[in-house]
Amino acid sequence: MGHIADVLVIGGGVIGLTTAYYLSRAGLRVAVADRQQPGRESSWAGAGIISPGNPKRASTPIGRLKAVSAAMFPELSQELRELTGIDNGYVRCGGIELQVSPDLWERRRLAALLQQERAEGQSCDVLDSEALHRLEPHLAPDLPGGLHYPEMAQVRNPWHLKALLAACARLGVRLLPDQPVEAFQQHAGKVVAVKTAEGSLSAAAFVIASGAWSEHLLEPLGWRIGIHPVRGQILLLNPGRVLLRHILQIGSDYLVPRTEGRILVGTTEERVGFDCRTTDAAMDRLGRLAVRLLPSLADAARENAWAGLRPGSPDGKPILGRVPGLDNLYIAAGHFRSGIHLSPVSGKVISQLVRGERPDPPIDAFGLERFLSRPDRPNGPKRSTL
Ligand SMILES: Cc1cc2nc3c(=O)[nH]c(=O)nc-3n(C[C@H](O)[C@H](O)[C@H](O)COP(=O)(O)OP(=O)(O)OC[C@H]3O[C@@H](n4cnc5c(N)ncnc54)[C@H](O)[C@@H]3O)c2cc1C
Repeated sequence: MGHIADVLVIGGGVIGLTTAYYLSRAGLRVAVADRQQPGRESSWAGAGIISPGNPKRASTPIGRLKAVSAAMFPELSQELRELTGIDNGYVRCGGIELQVSPDLWERRRLAALLQQERAEGQSCDVLDSEALHRLEPHLAPDLPGGLHYPEMAQVRNPWHLKALLAACARLGVRLLPDQPVEAFQQHAGKVVAVKTAEGSLSAAAFVIASGAWSEHLLEPLGWRIGIHPVRGQILLLNPGRVLLRHILQIGSDYLVPRTEGRILVGTTEERVGFDCRTTDAAMDRLGRLAVRLLPSLADAARENAWAGLRPGSPDGKPILGRVPGLDNLYIAAGHFRSGIHLSPVSGKVISQLVRGERPDPPIDAFGLERFLSRPDRPNGPKRSTL
């Protein structure tokens, strides 16, 4: 197929598409190759929670990245709407971290969280039982309280992907579905082309944004860092009316209310390889959790259930930057549980890097190199040709 674009993005999930969007908006000719139809994997499956943050007060690189990305969502959503007419469902619905019992352990969990949020400048209020039930009257009466995050937001993943795909098409991005990238062809410290079943595709720069499958592309280049799939399951309930307005979080589980009344109940974290099936055990647990918190859900229809493969990284943080040793190969992967949330900032910083600009915010903490400095790590680099 020959020279395809200035930049070829490998993977059309939320990370690859957002990167393509920002690159294309900056005037570059961009193509996105996906091994199937884009936007079908983890990015489709996610719950779409966007936790708020305070870019000025965030004390860690990952805290800053998340805070900046959350702050970018309203503008990105508006741009996509103006460009395509598609509403991605972004809404600042607010969220509550629930205290599920009066136990000492549970009180301590919430207290520690509150301390952490205050240190990061997060806007977050303590709710006693009365205040909690004023906000969400259908919650189980015995729930003792929680923390209220008025700025927590959500996006409807399938709508957001639809908007991104339409925006990319509108900006002239070439979408190449059913083109699995199999290998890189290198010359003089650069990638000159990628090999697909249909031939090779050349470009001036390449971005690996292949989610949980990114390790397959890195390995032949000498990088075995341990990007791995982490299955997450979701149960979709439809009570036929609106029972909940805020996102409810209970540690790593959650209930996410959609505006029309449907409620997503999640989730699991499972290391089962590339197996994307749901299980009865997970659905039973999620169903019980939902009814424990919102007893009226006992009558809700179980409308759907699905699973997705999150791209896990050895330290749970994303990998953003240039692949060392290759001048024109970049990576944006390993976003684990925050890929939707982190997609605007990831797309922006990779676009800046590819165009020779300094990424803002800085991404030094997220390079592949960090795995080289921890040879003791079980999932650390097993070998490197660098
Ligand atoms: C149940 C669940 C709930 C979640 N909830 C949230 C949430 O509330 N908030 C949040 O921020 N995040 C959430 N996430 C995480 C988020 O969905 C992911 O971090 C994010 O979607 C990762 O995006 P991605 O583009 O890297 O990967 P993917 O969406 O998996 O996309 C990767 C793409 O690369 C393609 N590909 C792979 N290999 C190749 C190849 N060799 N050649 C060409 N193409 C290739 C794939 O076909 C795929 O389209 C959730 C995930 C799950 C599963």
